[in-house]
Amino acid sequence: MELIDIGANLTHDSFDHDRGAVMARAREAGVVQMVVTGASREHSPMALELARAHPGELFATAGVHPHHASEYTAECDAEIRALHVHPEVVAVGECGLDYFRDFSPRPAQRRAFEMQLQIAVETGKPLFLHQRDAHADFMAVMRNFQGRLGPAVVHCFTGTREELYDYLDQDWHVGITGWLCDERRGRHLRGFVRDIPADRLMVETDAPYLLPRTLEPMPKDRRNEPMFLPHIVEELARDRGEEVAVTAANATATTRAFFRLPAVE
Ligand SMILES: [Zn+2]
Repeated sequence: MELIDIGANLTHDSFDHDRGAVMARAREAGVVQMVVTGASREHSPMALELARAHPGELFATAGVHPHHASEYTAECDAEIRALHVHPEVVAVGECGLDYFRDFSPRPAQRRAFEMQLQIAVETGKPLFLHQRDAHADFMAVMRNFQGRLGPAVVHCFTGTREELYDYLDQDWHVGITGWLCDERRGRHLRGFVRDIPADRLMVETDAPYLLPRTLEPMPKDRRNEPMFLPHIVEELARDRGEEVAVTAANATATTRAFFRLPAVE
């Protein structure tokens, strides 16, 4: 099984003491490539640095998460744009709207989102999107850019069936995480993940966040790692009524095409 984790927050400081071992364990588990999420002004350059240190294995996104939207100044915009010159940066984001936490004021979130969509328009790169409790505004902002954007993935999909259908109607991709394995918050997803066409479905851990609650045994430190991606794919395959190998192979092919990643040598 060859898998690609499209959302690994490998620059997170919880990996500072053992990042190499985390990567080795991922490889061992069949996670052959990863897209390292760049989600802030501070961490996006770090994601690029990691990708450059591991050519062909790690790739990066560069952007600013809605939690950090308040930091999206003109200088920040210039910094993010400079990162996008590098070929290792394969997508714009993580960007979007998050009205669940509201860590940045909503007008600031919308402005930072629009500024980054403009980068996607100009570079033609795919989008790595985040949406939580902001579906209507998210759709409205995206509508303003309709026809000018390349491919888009709504990462860590946690929404309703109706939201899923809205995204698929726009021809966007969807990223599924271990949220699916959460018997309290993710159960609804199990009823309709089979509706996602294979060529629109990608998988991710969102490590170190979102440790799958169905893992046995649970790691003592409760930290999620890319090596748990096969577990998520097993759960997903069961809900889709597919062989695990089929779900895995399709997700990997879809991911390579979406981010234009090279095959592993
Ligand atoms: Zn996110």
